[in-house]
Amino acid sequence: MNRFKNWFRRFMEGRYGTDKLNTLILTVGLIVCLIGCFFSGLTSSLLTTVSYSLMVWAIFRTFSRNTYKRYQENRKYLLFLERLKDREHRYFKCPKCRQRVRVPRGKGKVAITCPRCKERFIRNS
Ligand SMILES: [Zn+2]
Repeated sequence: MNRFKNWFRRFMEGRYGTDKLNTLILTVGLIVCLIGCFFSGLTSSLLTTVSYSLMVWAIFRTFSRNTYKRYQENRKYLLFLERLKDREHRYFKCPKCRQRVRVPRGKGKVAITCPRCKERFIRNS
């Protein structure tokens, strides 16, 4: 057992492991798989394919050696969740440099100055 543990530890060295995005991918994969049980024929095989693809994707992410890219994917997912939960602000992209700008929600039309490139644009908050 110890030998296997050591082998696995060495195998996982430099690999990404798992994160919240992986948990989401696996959960969605499992749900799609369960939904597939209620169908038959083409729909069932389509849902099974989608489910297996999601699980293979999660496994790929776990064993990936490109930890920087996997970390960035997870970061984007976490930022997206944060924005989804934030009911007090709206998020806009600067039309010039695509910098994300946060403004208070419900203030009507506001003139926004981009903090990075100082471009001014008007949005409805
Ligand atoms: Zn800008």
